[in-house]
Amino acid sequence: MPDTHLVTGGAGFVGSHLVLALVARGDRVVVLDDLSTGHAAAVPASTELISGRIGDADALAHAFALGPFASVFHFAALSLVGESMREPYRYMAENARNGLALIEATIAHGVKRLVLSSTAALFGAPSTIPIPEEEPVDPGSPYGESKAWLERALVWAERVHGLRSAALRYFNAAGADPGGRLGEDHRPETHLIPLVLDAASGRRPPLTVFGDDYPTPDGTCIRDYIHVADLAEAHLLALEALNERSVRYNLGNGTGYSVRQVIATAERVTGRAVPHTIGPRRAGDPPVLVASSRRIREELGWTPRYPALETIIADAWAWRQAHPEGYR
Ligand code: UDP
Repeated sequence: MPDTHLVTGGAGFVGSHLVLALVARGDRVVVLDDLSTGHAAAVPASTELISGRIGDADALAHAFALGPFASVFHFAALSLVGESMREPYRYMAENARNGLALIEATIAHGVKRLVLSSTAALFGAPSTIPIPEEEPVDPGSPYGESKAWLERALVWAERVHGLRSAALRYFNAAGADPGGRLGEDHRPETHLIPLVLDAASGRRPPLTVFGDDYPTPDGTCIRDYIHVADLAEAHLLALEALNERSVRYNLGNGTGYSVRQVIATAERVTGRAVPHTIGPRRAGDPPVLVASSRRIREELGWTPRYPALETIIADAWAWRQAHPEGYR
């Protein structure tokens, strides 16, 4: 019997790539997504999509009625660092409330495994780069804070109820399905690589680089970009690990690229110039976020298949070229 999984936010960027990976291995998936940022077209036809909010008790009950589930994956959340600095309490309240409601329902329905989308934003001013899991959690934004709370809630879910969980701290998810079936389509788009590519193709105005006065070699922020298909693979490995114990992993390639380096790489990959101007810093952005993923590599044998920034950008570019209007 194939397993059945509940995936909240399964119509979103990372969530849809995980759904694809689960379906590819023969599992059944139910997606709960309010489609506020996700796209119905990103969910495979074979997958049941419940268009609803986690905070809507009827929608949540409807989703769990389609179980029993072997596991729950929780992707659905407000997820923008900059926006969270402008609306801190909406971020903290909504992410915490929805996460807690989902954890409670997961426990009430006897599901034993939950995988949480967590984030590099747990680390606001890391003392060690690349950042190991031992780095103290000290978020630099309300978004990061809301995920830190949910990680703590899961500690208690295990102590009190025996729910095992995986907290996967994504660094900068990017790229697109190498098979060309899925890609990145946020509205509004705020992420660097899609904005760089749309600036290159002329679909959007020139990119604004958020600050060139950071304490980094070229003055722009350094991030660890990780291919979304490698992230999906890490979820499958974490799920297996949950048969034994709860886990927490930082997920990146361990190599940082500055905004200027991303622009230069995109210019090489696309063969086009990326028009850009320098603007002020964006609130909440730490100068450098690079993951040490040594723990998941050693414990679960995770090896990124697409670690090169060129590949990540090339896959994103291929999807964008094939879908100039995104999923519309
Ligand atoms: N960035 C930028 N201009 C943009 C969007 C992003 O300079 O229009 C920078 C941003 O300040 C950060 C990096 O690109 O240093 C990655 O930002 P993104 O929003 O893609 O991801 P985040 O690191 O916030 O998760």
